[in-house]
Amino acid sequence: MLLEVNDIHVHYGKIEALKGVSVEVNDGEIVTLIGANGAGKTTTLKTISGLRGLSSGRVLFEGRDISRMPGHLRVIAGLGQAPEGRGVFPGMTVHDNLLMGAYTRSGDFSAELAEAYELFPRLAERRNQPAGTMSGGEQQMLAIGRALMAKPKVLLLDEPSMGLAPLLVQQIFSIIEEINRRGTTVLLVEQNAQQALKLAHRAYVLETGRVVKSAPADELLNDPDVQAAYLGGG
Ligand code: ATP
Repeated sequence: MLLEVNDIHVHYGKIEALKGVSVEVNDGEIVTLIGANGAGKTTTLKTISGLRGLSSGRVLFEGRDISRMPGHLRVIAGLGQAPEGRGVFPGMTVHDNLLMGAYTRSGDFSAELAEAYELFPRLAERRNQPAGTMSGGEQQMLAIGRALMAKPKVLLLDEPSMGLAPLLVQQIFSIIEEINRRGTTVLLVEQNAQQALKLAHRAYVLETGRVVKSAPADELLNDPDVQAAYLGGG
């Protein structure tokens, strides 16, 4: 197993946002976390990436306990992150944003740059444009491209489809599939449960800080309770 979240409890002050969440991600998989607003999906990702501390439980990466490891060291270890809200550097060009993604590495990044531009031709067209002047969808592509520059073993994606037009949502999801096909494991948080379940191998349903279901994604797509709650009534 590549990544294991084991019974984590996470608090914001007195509020217990995660009440014992366990998630497993195997090498090569796309795993998705779905659930309503406030269920704890983003908090789970932030705890994995090191942006939030945990009160108890453990996060294991390649068998090693990384629960207390600073976030930047987790990136070096192989956890790539494209955070919610994108977080690109608005005043820097697309090209320089991509280079920033490789800050944990040394040497020649031309192969990674070429791959990012191949996956996202739109970024190649705009390589000299300030990132802040790009559309939401383009910034999302840039955030994913930048995360790939660190050559992650697992790519953590928080709501990549948020705020995007349907056509772009399709594009982003097919690029995620391609990234996975090329060998990167993916942990995806999505409000768009339908699309996420179509893409993923396995999925976890979160409700108010707990995992209430976990199953192969196609099983959940056909689950009447999941359809009623998250897939527009089936
Ligand atoms: P969303 O899709 O809306 O981001 P989510 O499933 O990702 O939802 P989280 O953002 O992880 O949910 O939130 C889980 C719980 O923690 C919610 O009850 C939320 O209000 C609370 N929470 C999240 N961030 C904070 C914060 N910075 N301070 C206080 N409470 C927070």
